Amino acid sequence: MQFRDLKKQYEVLKDEMDKAVLDVAGSGKYINGPWVKELETELAEYVGVKHCISCANGTDALYIAMMAWDIKEGDAVFVPDFTFFSSGEVVSHAGGTPIFVDVDRKTYNIDPSSLVDAIEKVISDGKLEPKVIVSVDLFGLPANYDELQKISDKYGLKILEDGAQGFGGEINGRKACSFGDIGTTSFFPAKPLGCYGDGGAIFTDDDELAMKMQSIKVHGKGKMKYDNVRIGLNSRLDSIQAAILQVKFKAFKEYEVADVNKAAKKYDELIKEKLGDKIIIPFIPKGYLSSWAQYTIQLKDKDTRDSLQSALKEEGIPSMVYYPKPMHNQEAFEIKGEYEFNTEGTDALCDTVLSLPIHPYITEDDINTVVSAIEKNLK
Ligand SMILES: *Cc1c(COP(=O)(O)O)cnc(C)c1O
Repeated sequence: MQFRDLKKQYEVLKDEMDKAVLDVAGSGKYINGPWVKELETELAEYVGVKHCISCANGTDALYIAMMAWDIKEGDAVFVPDFTFFSSGEVVSHAGGTPIFVDVDRKTYNIDPSSLVDAIEKVISDGKLEPKVIVSVDLFGLPANYDELQKISDKYGLKILEDGAQGFGGEINGRKACSFGDIGTTSFFPAKPLGCYGDGGAIFTDDDELAMKMQSIKVHGKGKMKYDNVRIGLNSRLDSIQAAILQVKFKAFKEYEVADVNKAAKKYDELIKEKLGDKIIIPFIPKGYLSSWAQYTIQLKDKDTRDSLQSALKEEGIPSMVYYPKPMHNQEAFEIKGEYEFNTEGTDALCDTVLSLPIHPYITEDDINTVVSAIEKNLK
């Protein structure tokens, strides 16, 4: 059994995919070919924003946003404590200070009341200036934007929506990557919408910001190619990845998001039936839709989680611990001790979460096998 079966997806899309790849190979337009612009237009329309700017990966997408807002030394950027490293790395890279905020144990996303506490602490401390909230749509579920918007309005902060795992998610019909002042995503193969290598995209409604970010991703270009008005990056999405994404995006819209939701529902039902309340299943608030980058359950404690994971492995069932270590404990961020925040939610999750195999092509049989194996091995 595969954790996320990308080969199976390729088999389903093979004819179209092979043609797309060979079209690019035969075109000679390997950089900035027509596929890139076409894809950007399709993605912007789907997300419901004016601008989509493709780039080399999801980390660059976040970093370009940091650069566009001129995040620098002395700036505080609020980041969930429970996320992938990139969400905080880009802040340090820009010279700012990431302030890690506890997450909600039910949704796995940034906890609004902990966020307010963190902002208040930074303000009263007076050393850093609060600038941006990085809201991560973890495991496919959009963050709590009703509350985050109120907080950002109150304190005059920008929202950077890290939708690397959230692309395809929704709140009341509105699409993920449209909630932040800037939204970003990643096309790393295992993300909800992935390519066959690295890729990323940035979304915004703001014309001026879009122009600035377009410039940053091309060496800070000005009016023409050899006119450079700022220090930028070289961060392109390759033509071949854009062509691959066009094929995958069609499947994503037509049935993959719906099918992965069916798979999640099947897990929910089987787990409730066979395991009752022995394990906690993912919580999706009313009106929210997840794109299920992960299906993440919570066990009673670390021993139970670790022994279950080993037992599943012996039966050939892959599972992952996203994430075993909170951001505030990462050696790379040397800000420990400066601020003391509550990290209860994140600490508990790091010890108890387990992500199970899920993807749009998983069969009911596979889901049955996983849940039966959990039932058999859960102590
Ligand atoms: C994967 C991921 C990123 C980084 O994306 P890359 O394309 O691998 O650079 C950033 N944030 C989150 C939450 C991610 O899961």
